Amino acid sequence: MFRPQYKYKRTFIGSLPSGVDLYDVLTKIVTEEDIRTGNIKAIGAVTSAIIGFFDQNKKEYLNIEIKGGFEILSCIGNVSVRDCKPFVHAHITLSDKDGKVFGGHLMPGTKVFACEVFIDEFTGEDLVRERDEETDLFLWKNKNLI
Ligand code: ZN
Repeated sequence: MFRPQYKYKRTFIGSLPSGVDLYDVLTKIVTEEDIRTGNIKAIGAVTSAIIGFFDQNKKEYLNIEIKGGFEILSCIGNVSVRDCKPFVHAHITLSDKDGKVFGGHLMPGTKVFACEVFIDEFTGEDLVRERDEETDLFLWKNKNLI
């Protein structure tokens, strides 16, 4: 069985300024660098966040808006191609002042307080997203591992 394989190409490491929109700035970076296959890791803090939950019955994202300062315990994501353009899919885990943790799908509207980011780019065939009939999500086409 053929399994898709990729090799590391470039890694970008740096910080983001306070006030930027986390999802939008990650999209801007991968678009400017034309990263078509990659992964993203970030830690830091946000002043507010919009996180999504995909309702599997309604087949739509429900947005949760949270305000106040939060730690980004983990934000991981990937970069692939949707509608011929680099597309970021990321999830974020946040904690509040009591150490309570919550999270979801990273949506535009999450504002950075401070953030340290690694973005890895891979070489190999483009990872392309297409709408999947069963889930109504845009999933990778022809990239099954099993
Ligand atoms: Zn997601």
